[in-house]
Amino acid sequence: MTHTDTPWRTTILTLYPEMFPGPLGVSLSGDALTRGTWSLEARNIREHGLGRHRAVDDTPAGGGAGMVLRCDVLAAAIDAASPPDDPRPRLLMSPRGRPLTQARVRTLAEGPGALIVCGRFEGVDERVIAGRGLEEVSIGDYVLSGGEIAALVVLDACVRLLPGVMGKVQSGVEESFEGGLLEYPHYTRPRDWEGRAIPDVLSGGNHAAIARWRRDEAERLTAERRPDLAGARQAASRSITGPSRS
Ligand code: SAH
Repeated sequence: MTHTDTPWRTTILTLYPEMFPGPLGVSLSGDALTRGTWSLEARNIREHGLGRHRAVDDTPAGGGAGMVLRCDVLAAAIDAASPPDDPRPRLLMSPRGRPLTQARVRTLAEGPGALIVCGRFEGVDERVIAGRGLEEVSIGDYVLSGGEIAALVVLDACVRLLPGVMGKVQSGVEESFEGGLLEYPHYTRPRDWEGRAIPDVLSGGNHAAIARWRRDEAERLTAERRPDLAGARQAASRSITGPSRS
């Protein structure tokens, strides 16, 4: 039922293809990969390396530490993996990129898939970014040693949104960031634990009251922990509904 004829198709360009599917080969994403809901092809950039040693990097123009991935090598790898009419977006994992958001994840998941380039060393020659139309994407304000783990993060966030991957459809709708709020707190049995009880409202069976409580908690947590999200939400609702009610 959940199988689609055209899987959500991903191609990863990396110097370490053995890192894929890695953790995405198990659990929900692994099952979906086996079922053909999505596909993953990890290609080694080094296949397009130069000379006897298949060199992929060189020293930075202007001097300085580290090595830079060559634009000609990377472009050859991209061209071999993706024809010019490939409809998939081409992402370059990069700490300089636009920070990944749930909104971007959702758009990616609704599309045909993605080609993802994983940087290494000091990064990639700037010219290939414009030359091959790469969209730089960051997973946060810290520096990783390579783009592979960042690519796995992007894939994980997208794959769980593909039709049929998550057990319960609703769990993708009420989550953190959907609607600009962090999620409300969860509880399960036992009802009392080490002197901490589940909030009464959740055991009362009043569904309207529960929905209200969850909404209030989500708003409280968002204002407390992520004033940036709370501010963005207020601005958005002002522009849609006019002056706020409260
Ligand atoms: N010299 C670079 C960091 C290079 S880290 C700089 O200061 O900006 C090597 C590679 O790891 C990068 O090319 C990128 O592909 C990946 N990477 C590192 N941090 C990342 C992040 N926060 N998000 C996405 N990719 C990242």
